[in-house]
Order: sequence, then C-alpha cells, then structure tokens
Amino acid sequence: MGEHDEALRAAGLRATLPRRRVLEVLADRAHLTPDEIARAVPDRECGPVPPSTVYRALDALEGAGLVDHTHLDHGPPTYHLADHEGHLHLVCRTCGTVTELAAGLAADLAARLRRETGFDADLTHMAIHGRCASCADELHRKDPAT
Ligand SMILES: [Zn+2]
Ligand SMILES: [Zn+2]
Ligand SMILES: [Zn+2]
Repeated sequence: MGEHDEALRAAGLRATLPRRRVLEVLADRAHLTPDEIARAVPDRECGPVPPSTVYRALDALEGAGLVDHTHLDHGPPTYHLADHEGHLHLVCRTCGTVTELAAGLAADLAARLRRETGFDADLTHMAIHGRCASCADELHRKDPAT
C-alpha cells in the first residue's frame, strides 16, 4: 500500500500501478516532461508500461488536481505534484536552474492586475526567466560594468 493510494482514492481515482508510479516519480523529481516520466515509470513492480498509458495516467492525475504542469522553456510542459498554494518558477537563462517560490510572493501583482484590468492571472503556469544570483554575480565579476 503506497503513500499515494490514499491521495488517489481521495481524488476519486482508482490506484492503478501506472498512476501510482507517476506520483512516485514526480515525488522523487519535479519538473519532468511527459517523455521523461514515461521513461521513469516502468520499474520492477510496475513492469513495462507503454508511453500512451503513462500519458493517460498523467491526464487523469492532472484532471483530478493531483499533478500540475508548468512551462519552463520552449519545450514540452513539465509536471510536478500539485500543491495547495501553487508556486512560481524562476528559470535561470544561463545555468538553467529552476527555483520554486511561494505564489504568495506575487500576490500584490495578481491583486493589482485584477483591480486594474479585471484579469484573473495564473502566475504559476508560466516560468519567469532571468538570471540567478550566482550567475549574475559571475557575470558581474567578469565584467564589472554589467
Ligand atoms: Zn500549459
Ligand atoms: Zn514546480
Ligand atoms: Zn544561473
């Protein structure tokens, strides 16, 4: 009985092996593309699983609100376990590091967008791109003018 069975049942889903494995894989490492998940799902317990089964499991899990996806770059979306609050993703253009931050950090921006435009923004769906602190430091050391 895995720790994810309960979450699956609470979400009204049958705890099939592929669904459980998708949750296990994402609990282990977040921000995987569907192909990466499909490669990681088959194991000794689960046996070989066709990618199409994994994609359907991912759809069901996302529909039930157990997993969520975000767009970190121009490639395929990446998936992570859904959390209650949602989080912002900061992606460093130089080293590719993904940093997660509580969505509450952007609450002021979201409130202002709602107030001024009536737009209800989902700020967790797309990543915010830029340069992480250590890459910015490095760049500054090489070229103090930046
Ligand atoms: Zn999307
Ligand atoms: Zn994430
Ligand atoms: Zn960086």
